[in-house]
Amino acid sequence: MGDDPASRVYVNNKKKACEEIGIYSEEYALPETTSEEELLNLIDKLNNKPEISGILVQLPLPAGLDEEKVINRINPKKDVDAFHPVNVGKIMVGNYDFVPCTPAGIMELIKESGIDICGRECVVVGRSNIVGKPMAMMLLHANGTVTVCHSRTKNLAEKTRQADILVAAVGIPNFITGDMVKEGAVVIDVGINRTENGKLTGDVEFETAEPKAAAITPVPGGVGPMTIAMLMKNTLKAAVINREEK
Ligand code: NDP
Repeated sequence: MGDDPASRVYVNNKKKACEEIGIYSEEYALPETTSEEELLNLIDKLNNKPEISGILVQLPLPAGLDEEKVINRINPKKDVDAFHPVNVGKIMVGNYDFVPCTPAGIMELIKESGIDICGRECVVVGRSNIVGKPMAMMLLHANGTVTVCHSRTKNLAEKTRQADILVAAVGIPNFITGDMVKEGAVVIDVGINRTENGKLTGDVEFETAEPKAAAITPVPGGVGPMTIAMLMKNTLKAAVINREEK
């Protein structure tokens, strides 16, 4: 909804990924003036449409719309972003169908790189519902020892220097500098920030962190593409779940 330029880029990338792998998709680009009721009616329509397996509402919504109410309206079995409280609760319990795409992508990156999480010190900087919190939960399920940091954390660098696996999801360019990284750490940079000259940068200062890290994700080209891949995976899963229920 509305004309957020970053949202436009994300939606285009998701549509392109669907086309590339043969997933049918519909886009509803609603004007900012759309009422909450109209949006909820559209979600109801898609909830009841059998050929639609997954529904995603690109956030943020324009001011004045209740994001929680909108997300809660999506059928949890079609909630491919895994933001609905039913899916959030399932992640907490550890018996889930969908994981939010960014933490799921990070877990896949870690797994595919042959990095063992079990018993390792994992530090997540950021506690948002879409990245930080589910990320911490996924690392915990993988038997990591998890610390979650946020804007009120005291002595942050002391905490990040303990990390064998450090996940930065803060939204501040170059926030994590090399001196905050332990020698040999795995550094995952979730941040997507645009600097004044239009350049994309992460939350980690790559130049100073990279020499210390055993492995590090770049921005762009690290976590971002994995997020979209996991959206496709969740959509496929939703298709199977919804087909089995028919
Ligand atoms: P939010 O703004 O929702 O959360 C940011 C978190 O960072 C908050 O928990 C906040 O703490 C914490 N924080 C802010 N300042 C500090 C500080 N000085 N010290 C420690 N912690 C701090 O952001 P998101 O989680 O949605 O996104 C984070 C970044 O990841 C953004 O750059 C976003 O664009 C990017 N992103 C990338 C995705 C991808 O696919 N690669 C997907 C989603 C997001 P508090 O809770 O106390 O306010």
